[in-house]
Amino acid sequence: MFNYFEYFLNTMAKKALIVGTGLAGLSTALRLTSKGYEVEMVEKYHQPGGRLNLLEKDGFKFDMAPTFFSMSYEFKELADYCNIPMPFEFVELDPLYAVHFEGDKRSYLIYKDLKKLAEEFADLEVDLEEKLRRFLKSAGEIFHDTENIVIKQNFDSLIGYLLKLTRVPVKHAPKMFYSMWKEMEKNFDSFEVKVIFSLVGFFLGSTPFDTPAVYSMLNYTELVHDGYHNVKGGMYKIVEGVVKELEKRNVRMHFNVEIDQFEQRNGTLSAFTDKSGKRWEADVFVVNADAASFRGQVLQRPKFNTEKLDAKKWTLAPLTIYLGLDTKVKGMYHHNYFLRRNFEEYAHKIFKNSIKLDKPYYYVNIQSMHNPDYAPPGKESVFILCPVPDLRYKPNWDDAESIADAIIQDMSKRTGFDFVAHTETRVVYHPQQWEGMFNLYRGSGLGLAHDLNQVGGFRPSNKDEQLDNLYYTGASTVPGTGLPMTVISSRLVTERILKDHGTLS
Ligand SMILES: Cc1cc2nc3c(=O)[nH]c(=O)nc-3n(C[C@H](O)[C@H](O)[C@H](O)COP(=O)(O)OP(=O)(O)OC[C@H]3O[C@@H](n4cnc5c(N)ncnc54)[C@H](O)[C@@H]3O)c2cc1C
Repeated sequence: MFNYFEYFLNTMAKKALIVGTGLAGLSTALRLTSKGYEVEMVEKYHQPGGRLNLLEKDGFKFDMAPTFFSMSYEFKELADYCNIPMPFEFVELDPLYAVHFEGDKRSYLIYKDLKKLAEEFADLEVDLEEKLRRFLKSAGEIFHDTENIVIKQNFDSLIGYLLKLTRVPVKHAPKMFYSMWKEMEKNFDSFEVKVIFSLVGFFLGSTPFDTPAVYSMLNYTELVHDGYHNVKGGMYKIVEGVVKELEKRNVRMHFNVEIDQFEQRNGTLSAFTDKSGKRWEADVFVVNADAASFRGQVLQRPKFNTEKLDAKKWTLAPLTIYLGLDTKVKGMYHHNYFLRRNFEEYAHKIFKNSIKLDKPYYYVNIQSMHNPDYAPPGKESVFILCPVPDLRYKPNWDDAESIADAIIQDMSKRTGFDFVAHTETRVVYHPQQWEGMFNLYRGSGLGLAHDLNQVGGFRPSNKDEQLDNLYYTGASTVPGTGLPMTVISSRLVTERILKDHGTLS
């Protein structure tokens, strides 16, 4: 019999409270409002964006963390899903980035055009174009054979996940059992080529020596599939664009609000409480804070207590440096990696802080090169990211400024440009600060790593195990970290919510 009462309840606007305004939280808000939900958001930081944030100082602007992204079509999917025009404009990077090795006078430019790329390494690697085509063909097959089966899926159980995996063609199976570095050795001869194409292993939170070869699919996404993109006007335009849409939809955002307690009744979450004691009620709750540490620290789940969280694999922590220079930099590209020749030693020792940090590996982005309004005329805004051990292995960061000094001196020596003399303003954020700003567990920059036992059905689920109206979105739940993944995460959690609570419009 038609139940009018149930129909009436289901057609009333349901309220969703989202904890966190990172990209995953903002995208989830956009999707849920498109389906008729009323959304309210609370955020610990003083402005939206989470790690995708903006720092402004002395007339300079800096993208605080992400500086480029792959799989740009996921943003288009978000806009289409919500029936809005693209809220920002992206620009494809070409060359993708430049790599400098210590002791080498030249830098290597990484192009998507494989012919040009092969010419760049002509003196180091014979037949590189042919070798790359072979390597990328196999990497591309892995990507397309897993994208819809594993990456863009919700899993209700571990068995369900393992069953899904059986649909991946068996020919890829061996690559789960040997490393990305071995895959490089099988395909290439030169040290430089092997190191450059295995850097993606670090993005996943491990080393190329521990990361399974299946993840070479990331080389396919960077070199063939969709490349890397920037945003016209700076990365924070993504946040500004989405927030503008949310304002039109009357989404209320409350900043400097940190959730630290909860109330439940009969297996349902009735309210979150913030540090000032204010209660936040809703019908549905979505947590954009780290899906593993929130379960432990706020929900007090024994499976996510400190000991268990510390036993998980986490991605490296960031030490970030923001420099406002009084002149333009010469001889550098937009995206630059500074590497050394002790690659294997570095990879094995960096995670556990058993290597000296005065000779680090780092990434440099000249932010005002493509976004002139990031610096006053004739000046430059520069971002440096040095991956460092997290707070489990290096809890004390009193030496952060001196590590930053060493990096800047090293960069000056290697580029012949005196960054120290030209610095007008400088900010350094170390892992303790990153932890404090956004509740990043132990300061880990990208969240949970992507070892095979921490992905898919093994990753903290986006649906809570105990409370039936509590969900998660973001880097440490499915599918994983990075900007496009968090946009996919917002779709997966929205699908769950709509399945459980209904589409309202
Ligand atoms: C230095 C660095 C560089 C990076 N570079 C890139 C890059 O170039 N390309 C790329 O694709 N990705 C990059 N990433 C990764 C990318 O930033 C993240 O994967 C993505 O931004 C995560 O988004 P999110 O929404 O899951 O989480 P977040 O951005 O962390 O958002 C979560 C939000 O929840 C808030 N919050 C947490 N706990 C609470 C609480 N208890 N109460 C209220 N609010 C709370 C936090 O303050 C935060 O705003 C980088 C990350 C770092 C750190």
